[in-house]
Amino acid sequence: LSLVFDAHHIAYTDELTGLKGRRALNESFMSLGKRYAIAMVDIDHFKQFNDTYGHDVGDQVLKMVAATLDTVSGGKAYRFGGEEFTLIFKNKSIDSIIHELERLRVDIAKEVVYVQVEDAANTAKRGKAKPAVKEVSVTISLGLAVPDKKHTTPEQVLKFADEGLYKAKRAGRNKLVVAKDAEKPARKPRGKKPPIVKD
Ligand code: GH3
Ligand code: MG
Ligand code: MG
Repeated sequence: LSLVFDAHHIAYTDELTGLKGRRALNESFMSLGKRYAIAMVDIDHFKQFNDTYGHDVGDQVLKMVAATLDTVSGGKAYRFGGEEFTLIFKNKSIDSIIHELERLRVDIAKEVVYVQVEDAANTAKRGKAKPAVKEVSVTISLGLAVPDKKHTTPEQVLKFADEGLYKAKRAGRNKLVVAKDAEKPARKPRGKKPPIVKD
């Protein structure tokens, strides 16, 4: 048994999921280079899930989601906080990232967690609750962004990805949205009137 505490590990690693946390994410921003992408990931209706199955089952789901995020190729996963995660991609094409994230989204929706629930039918029959096993699952929503003219720092790109995530939620959840700036309507030319050409 080693009683040597690794202070660095404790400060940078999230205890529940084993992923790196916010502090490590912020530090990674310093070495991102130019070609990178940030994805924000959030579990859908997780409050409701906790309320239904309990906080411990919620924790189990967080671990499952974190472990699946860790399998994303070319992306580094962080626990951003609560039920939100961040993925950082360096030097990967946007198409390959979208492909990976769609694979992740589908994989998580398919993943099953087993929960012990009290079987109402058995309770009625024997007057005593008999635990039954139920399969439960969750979905995630994702927002993806890359740097552009308006979002040049990693902090700005992360916020931009968050806007994509918000849109994915609004669009019904269990979706990936690539953040894009709203197309501005073409402005009518103002100011000088075109010269009237007379012959
Ligand atoms: P939405 O689909 O819009 O994201 O809805 P939501 O319910 O997931 O979002 P909301 O922000 O209302 O709730 C997040 C929930 O995540 C509330 C909180 O109890 C749960 N949560 C955050 N951290 C943990 C954790 O460490 N363990 C467990 N079990 N639950 C957590
Ligand atoms: Mg959230
Ligand atoms: Mg959520």
